Amino acid sequence: TKGAAMVTAVASRLQAQRKQIDKVLALFRLTQEQLVGIRNKMRVEFEYGLKKDTHPLATVKMLPTYVCGMPDGTEKGKFLALDLGGTNFRVLLVKIRSGRRSVRMYNKIFAIPLEIMQGTGEELFDHIVQCIADFLDYMGLKGAQLPLGFTFSFPCRQASIDKGTLIEWTKGFKATDCEGEDVVDMLREAIKRRNEFDLDIVAVVNDTVGTMMTCGYEDSNCEVGLIAGTGSNMCYMEEMRNIELVEGDEGKMCINTEWGGFGDNGCLDDIHTQYDKEVDEGSLNPGKQRYEKMTSGMYLGEIVRQILIDLTKQGLLFRGQISERLRTRGIFETKFLSQIESDRLALLQVRRILQQLGLDSTCEDSIVVKEVCGAVSRRAAQLYGAGLAAIVEKRREDQGLEHMRITVGVDGTLYKLHPHFSRILRETVKELAPQCDVMFMLSEDGSGKGAALITAVAKRLQQAQRE
Ligand code: BGC
Ligand code: MG
Repeated sequence: TKGAAMVTAVASRLQAQRKQIDKVLALFRLTQEQLVGIRNKMRVEFEYGLKKDTHPLATVKMLPTYVCGMPDGTEKGKFLALDLGGTNFRVLLVKIRSGRRSVRMYNKIFAIPLEIMQGTGEELFDHIVQCIADFLDYMGLKGAQLPLGFTFSFPCRQASIDKGTLIEWTKGFKATDCEGEDVVDMLREAIKRRNEFDLDIVAVVNDTVGTMMTCGYEDSNCEVGLIAGTGSNMCYMEEMRNIELVEGDEGKMCINTEWGGFGDNGCLDDIHTQYDKEVDEGSLNPGKQRYEKMTSGMYLGEIVRQILIDLTKQGLLFRGQISERLRTRGIFETKFLSQIESDRLALLQVRRILQQLGLDSTCEDSIVVKEVCGAVSRRAAQLYGAGLAAIVEKRREDQGLEHMRITVGVDGTLYKLHPHFSRILRETVKELAPQCDVMFMLSEDGSGKGAALITAVAKRLQQAQRE
């Protein structure tokens, strides 16, 4: 009959659509074999970055940080910390008490307007100093000469703990005249320009290093720091003898891997999709930070958006209508991805979130959107897992251990907010580094506390040297 024929037609159309959607999602599925391959490639890049001959061309830069020791509990005093690198800028006062290993913090959050992030370097640093002045006023600390640690979460080449030359901006920053300059000098000059107070800048620190230090304060087995937030990065303690860029063979030093650049030499091209390419091309730094763009909060929502646009073009979503909203960059923040993927959420609520984003969806649409988010965040967690497996396996082999226990300090909104990310990351590491027992420790405000701890250790060493 006519009715039956129509039902069959609808069913086969749905089947065909399903096939098209599955084809797109399949691009994001990584096999065990692929993940092992990625782990092995990451390992190769680590070695390139560490070796003098290959370092200049290495895409994973393996930057020495001049952080050589963990806090030993004797640190104490009041410190200022600055935290620049995510979506906000923070100024903190950190009080460390020795013995009890307790830390108290006061902080103020300042927005950094887009035109400052992407204006001139002078404007950016003047703005930072303006925020510091506000904070000192607010805390009644003007005139106090406190040692300061500067968490600056971008790749910096360091020649000592208090010097850091910005190699290049990443994430949402693009202020002019900063690349190739020492960020501590730029900060000092901005303070001088303002001519209102003086600060004793003791350390410049990457956020991964601050995170590792914060967790290391409580667990001496913590020798890796991981950030899964706006950006993606990892640091770890390396044997001095393996760090060819720094004289000396004794002891260890923390290496800021800057693994976000993994893949910039094309070694991830086989898993790079057309959607990743579109995200890369629309970013502030095309061709750079490929791995970061497949794994971190700033870009995952953008990958999702590119897929949704394509599915809509294929007539598989939103009735084939690409809305103005869907064309808008940055609408899917980590927060929304996390909500959409929450298992406790009914589809109706997913539709409501999409509504909030200005996207009118049917029930079928919301199922597909949720699947797309799942595929993208799952791949991100697995890629993180492959990278992390590479470092713990390296550490295990370097120490000649059959089995190794290690703690990883972690921070970042993706890790903290996303309902599945941390579990998939853990599962992947377990599969790819079976001889390592990896413990994950959430860092409580690693950037602020860590910078203060590193500053405290550096101050202690400075004083010891003078005596
Ligand atoms: C930066 C790293 C930083 C990471 C996490 C990346 O874009 O290059 O230095 O650690 O983001 O904030
Ligand atoms: Mg050495």
